[in-house]
Amino acid sequence: CGIVGYVGSKPAYPVLISGLKRLEYRGYDSAGVALLVDGNLQVFKKEGKVAALEGVVGEQQPLSKIGIGHTRWATHGEPCDRNAHPHLSNDGSIAMIHNGIIENYAQLKAELEKKGYTFASDTDSEVLVNFIADIRMNNKCSLEEAVRIALKRITGAYVILLLDNDMPDTIIAARKGSPLVIGVGENEHFLGSDASPMLAYTKDVVYINDYEMVIVRPDELILKNLVNEKLTPFVQRLDLDL
Ligand code: GLU
Repeated sequence: CGIVGYVGSKPAYPVLISGLKRLEYRGYDSAGVALLVDGNLQVFKKEGKVAALEGVVGEQQPLSKIGIGHTRWATHGEPCDRNAHPHLSNDGSIAMIHNGIIENYAQLKAELEKKGYTFASDTDSEVLVNFIADIRMNNKCSLEEAVRIALKRITGAYVILLLDNDMPDTIIAARKGSPLVIGVGENEHFLGSDASPMLAYTKDVVYINDYEMVIVRPDELILKNLVNEKLTPFVQRLDLDL
């Protein structure tokens, strides 16, 4: 299980694929990516190795400068294509990847099903992305605010990365109990479960702590706690080689 993300001026897809391969040592059963192409979310996912995912995408690599990628270690729902991440909200506006477990997902799922939400997977993660989408719709708030509200109501462990088809240059991420590192480049940022996906591009990294969230754009890294207070990112230079 691992996560990667990229926003900058490079084609995102190759950065995500090479990042996922660097995380392969963590073990996983499926892999997937979501990219924003002209305001449309494109999701590719496949049971098996990252090479199998590459097979699905084929030669027509999506042209995008922003994307998120995931390798899954199934906890809720068998390993299969439809349970692989990323997961989309019902309205198709948000793509999310998740490492960890949402302990109270069954209760949230029942609430959402009463409201008419449907689920394409058996995962706890798909419940969370729809819970966030529902909060955003009801509160008419930003995705960032909806994430904050949702995270106060869930129990469990997570690192989540979200893409919104209305925000072509922004990745929102948060963590509690699962690792998240941000790589700081020149007009680009990387996200990873550890620093290995970004070491080929930058050695300047920020380790995110529990109960923190980040709003990441090519030229901006905003770090906040879950009560919307800004924190100062501590950038450290890694003395590591690939
Ligand atoms: N609980 C989620 C699932 O089963 C995420 C598992 C993971 O961390 O890869 O899909």
